[in-house]
Amino acid sequence: MRIVLLGAPGAGKGTQCKRIVSKYGLLHLSSGDILRQERSAGTELGKKAQGYMDSGALVPDEIIVEMMAGAIIKASESGFVLDGFPRTVDQAAQLDKSLKSSGKKIDAVLSLQIDDKVVAQRMTGRRSCPKCGAVYHIENLKPKVNGICDGCGSKLIQRPDDTPEVVANRLRTYHQQTKPVVDYYKKNGTFYDIDANSDASDVTALVIGHLDKMAPVGSRCRIL
Ligand code: AMP
Repeated sequence: MRIVLLGAPGAGKGTQCKRIVSKYGLLHLSSGDILRQERSAGTELGKKAQGYMDSGALVPDEIIVEMMAGAIIKASESGFVLDGFPRTVDQAAQLDKSLKSSGKKIDAVLSLQIDDKVVAQRMTGRRSCPKCGAVYHIENLKPKVNGICDGCGSKLIQRPDDTPEVVANRLRTYHQQTKPVVDYYKKNGTFYDIDANSDASDVTALVIGHLDKMAPVGSRCRIL
């Protein structure tokens, strides 16, 4: 299966992708994770992307398409789930073109629908450990000691892209540039809208309900 998971920042794409990957044995390709790795390794690409990411804007299409193309073609034999890519209609068209040139296509697109106010509450309340990467929430997932990581004792921080101004900007960017990708896929192939306002496990049940219809029989019954 070659799947695209769409949704606003904070819609839970990463969580759902991990579950899809573990159930169906696909590769998880997250453009945001790849960019963060490039940044922490201090590469040229990471340096170019930094300013866009910190302000909540999109990294230019040519940089992203070049970064993702090779990984996607490599993963297209075993199957993949794309998380955070494509984020513009141009990226989607280029993805289709490059898959088509090797006789492949996207099999399904799942679009996580979530209210902006739920996203804002989830993201601005998030606190992260700069040392071990653990993630908490000021209301829903509190550490044992306020502001301190349970795992390694470091002081928790709010990531620059989780501040209220940047979250508002990321949502604006999503509505202007990524929402049209939803319309693009609605017209081109198998498309499912999924309500993502509820608990992650309820959303997973909806996701799996759709994907099981497409998956080879042997992969349908693994418990998550
Ligand atoms: P994410 O973790 O997917 O929300 O991505 C974090 C940031 O990386 C985004 O706010 C963008 O600045 C950048 N980014 C990730 N994927 C893309 C993409 N497909 N196109 C442009 N920018 C992206």
